[in-house]
Amino acid sequence: MNILVLNCGSSSVKFQIIETDLELIKQNNDKRLARGVIERIGSQALITLQPEGGKQIKKARPLRDHRDAIDFILRWIISPDSQINQIQSLSDIDAVGHRVVHGGEKFSKSVQINMEIISGIEDCIELAPLHNPAGLKGIKAITDLLGMAVPQVAVFDTAFHSTMPDTSYLYGLPYHLYRRYKIRRYGFHGTSHRYISYRYRQEHGLKLKDVNIISVHLGNGCSACSILRGESYDTSMGFTPLEGLLMGTRAGDIDASILEFLYHKEGLSFGEIDTLLNKRSGLLGISGLTNDMRELLEEEAENQDRRAKLAIDIFCKRVRKYIGAYYVDTAGKADAVIFTGGIGENSPVIRERICNGLESIGLKLDKNKNNKTHSRKSGKISTEDSRLSAFVFPTNEELLIARDTLRVVKNVPRRW
Ligand code: AMP
Repeated sequence: MNILVLNCGSSSVKFQIIETDLELIKQNNDKRLARGVIERIGSQALITLQPEGGKQIKKARPLRDHRDAIDFILRWIISPDSQINQIQSLSDIDAVGHRVVHGGEKFSKSVQINMEIISGIEDCIELAPLHNPAGLKGIKAITDLLGMAVPQVAVFDTAFHSTMPDTSYLYGLPYHLYRRYKIRRYGFHGTSHRYISYRYRQEHGLKLKDVNIISVHLGNGCSACSILRGESYDTSMGFTPLEGLLMGTRAGDIDASILEFLYHKEGLSFGEIDTLLNKRSGLLGISGLTNDMRELLEEEAENQDRRAKLAIDIFCKRVRKYIGAYYVDTAGKADAVIFTGGIGENSPVIRERICNGLESIGLKLDKNKNNKTHSRKSGKISTEDSRLSAFVFPTNEELLIARDTLRVVKNVPRRW
C-alpha cells in the first residue's frame, strides 16, 4: 500500500509517502518514496521537497491554509518531479495516516477516522488547543481533496502512554479535579518512544515483555520515558508538553507558584505567562541567544559564552536527573538508555555531558564509539562491561504511523 503520512502543525505540514504491506513489515523493508515540509502556511510559504534518492527542491509560494498546502503536496506527489513511479494519480494513494497530538483518555490506540472519531478528537481540543485543531485541518483537507473513499487513520502522540499506572499519571492535586476535568499526565512523543522500544526489541531479538529501557527524545521538544515490559511506565511531559526536561523554548519543570508571582510582579496575563513558559524559556530563555543546541555549542566553544554554557549544563543535568530517577523508580530493571531526536542522535558531546555521572548507576560510556555515532547513525555507545547499556537510534515516527495505518485499514492487530 502507498501511505501518505501527514503531520500538521499550526502553520506547517510535514509529509512522507511510504510503501508498506504486511510482508514488507515482516522483512522490515518498508520504503520511503518521498518526503517534504511546508512551513509558514498563511503567508509566503517555504516548501522543501525531497524525492527519495533525488535532489532536494526548495520553493516559496503563497499558500493560504492547510488545504492549499495539502493540495500542493498531492499535486507534487503525482507529478514527474517527485520521481515516485508507484504513484501516477491520486487513486494510487491507498490510505492516509495523520499524526494527532492529543487523544486524551479516549484513544489508547490508532483508529480509522469517521465522524464519531472526528468528534472525539474535537473533544480533546480543550486539552490541546494549539495542536489538535491542526490535525483536524489535515483530516478535513484530505476528505475534501481525496474523498471519503480513501481511508484515513489517526495515530495519537499520547496513545503509547495510556499504559502508565495511576501512580505515574496522577498529580498531587485534589482527586476530584482529575474526575471532573481529567487533569493528569498524558505524555507526548509517544510514537517516537514506541518506535525506540520496537527498534531495541528488534535489534536484540527480544519478546515485548523483555523490553525494559529508558528512552530519551531530545529535539526542540524533549521528553524521557521509562518503558517496562515494552510499555510506557512513566514519562516526563505531562498534562501538556510543557513539563519535564528543559527544551528549546519550554521551561520544563518549575514550581507552579511562579505563575502567580509573575502575574503580580510583571503584570502578565495568564496567556502571556503561558507564552513565556512555552516560547521564551528553556535554552533560549537561559542563554538569551537561541533555542538551537548546535548554535549554543558553537557560542560556548568559540566565544566562551557563559550563559550558553549554563543553558547547556542545565539541559544536561535535567536529563541526567530524569534518567537516574527512572532507573531507581523501575527498581534498576532498565537494561539500556536510548538517545534519539535531533540532539540525541547528532550530538556526541551532549550525550557525554549527560552520561557524566551515570557511572553511579552502572552506565559506562565508550567515548570512542560515542564520538563516532552522529549524523543519524545507530549504535551502541556504552562499553562492553557497562551494566546499563546506552544506544543511539534515529527515531522514525512516520514509519510507525504508516504501519499503524496499514494495520488499522486491514484490520490486523498490532503486536507492539
Ligand atoms: P529536532 O526537533 O528533533 O529536529 O531537533 C532539533 C534540535 O537538534 C536543535 O536544537 C538542533 O540544534 C539540534 N541538533 C541537530 N544537529 C545537531 C548537532 N550536530 N549537534 C547538536 N545539536 C544538534
